[in-house]
Amino acid sequence: VDQLWAPWRMGYVQTKPNPTANSCFLCQILQETEDRENLVLRRTSQSIVVLNRYPYNNGHLLIAPREHLANLQDLTPECLLDLQFQLRDMMDLLSECIKAEGFNVGLNLGRVAGAGLPGHLHWHIVPRWSGDTNFMPVMTDARVIVQSLDALWLILNEKMSSNS
Ligand SMILES: [Zn+2]
Repeated sequence: VDQLWAPWRMGYVQTKPNPTANSCFLCQILQETEDRENLVLRRTSQSIVVLNRYPYNNGHLLIAPREHLANLQDLTPECLLDLQFQLRDMMDLLSECIKAEGFNVGLNLGRVAGAGLPGHLHWHIVPRWSGDTNFMPVMTDARVIVQSLDALWLILNEKMSSNS
């Protein structure tokens, strides 16, 4: 278990140190332009789609409104609709590119529900496979991400470019 190859750990080591209590990584990414470095897959007028840097499974995505809002009630109808389109499109993309067979999709609302970033709404899409053995062997508490995040970003980005 100690020898598992986990390339995502490198990203963890390289993240910017000591973000302030008020910082929001989604807002920061929205302001920056380095989409490959930040693992941004799509930007729309309403939303942003990004690969989770600390994935539960290969292809774990986050979908968030552009605005730093904590509640569904705060979103405009246009934004809510856009977010649903992103959920649909990204599940299609993951099915096509990495043969996801199912998904867990959800919101963690509030700290008590496990939200790591309670101030900025974001949906999680976690792809699943039968037994999850193709992409993520589970051994005790170890997580193995077979593809590096950068390689996965390239695959998904290329597919989206060829579709559009
Ligand atoms: Zn934010």
